[in-house]
Amino acid sequence: MHQRDELDRAIEAAAREMARASHAVALVGAGLSAESGIPTFRGGEGLWTKLGEPTFDGWELFNEDPAAWWQRAIDFKEEFADFNRAIDEARPNPGHLAMADLEAMGRLAHVITQNIDNLHQRAGSRHITEIHGNRYLVRCMSCGSRDRLESVRLDRLPPLCPECGGFMKNDTVMFGEPIPEDALRECYRQTALCDLFLVVGTSAVVYPAAEFPVMACRRGVPLIEINPEETPLSGLAEVVIRASAGESLPAIVERLKAGTSRS
Ligand SMILES: [Zn+2]
Repeated sequence: MHQRDELDRAIEAAAREMARASHAVALVGAGLSAESGIPTFRGGEGLWTKLGEPTFDGWELFNEDPAAWWQRAIDFKEEFADFNRAIDEARPNPGHLAMADLEAMGRLAHVITQNIDNLHQRAGSRHITEIHGNRYLVRCMSCGSRDRLESVRLDRLPPLCPECGGFMKNDTVMFGEPIPEDALRECYRQTALCDLFLVVGTSAVVYPAAEFPVMACRRGVPLIEINPEETPLSGLAEVVIRASAGESLPAIVERLKAGTSRS
């Protein structure tokens, strides 16, 4: 089959690039989480389509009155119960597991993820930067230190940072909220270090994520795109894999294990 041949060739080419690279970095988006059954926000079955768009002034509200913001988050927990359950019950998919394999094989140095679901950690990846935070954590708005959400006492709102006494907020980045400084710094560092850049399951049109592959590309770093859909980055990519991450990443791992030196 013609299309199958094309996919095989792209996977072969991606494996060759990965074998050659000494510091590959991957940027991951919602497409990978969707393969684990985590609902997306937009589209027919999207969470926002069903519940309405979230308020775009969440960050402002938090800053105005952190205690009231926490109280609202606790009150509205039920409304998001379906979404929360979907994340809690989600399992890392073959794409997540293959990325952890690639890291263990020394072929993938770092994962920059836009997902908040903790699935990379659960799959076994260790070098991860979460630009939009992690839904199981809280973060201090003053010193940036993080803690487990479940270990935070909510008898007094807002909860205070045990390190510095600052206000704690859930780690998930809200609309209008700046990307946490430490995460952003690490993203730029990885983008400057990389000699291969993978874009997995994201159209990468949202700042700042959109910037990283373009910056790498400008330095002459080859881009591999893994996405069933065409994206604005497709034209820049050296290798385009038009398939799901769950199908293509394990195939790349297999190829690398079989050895690509002969080609
Ligand atoms: Zn603090």
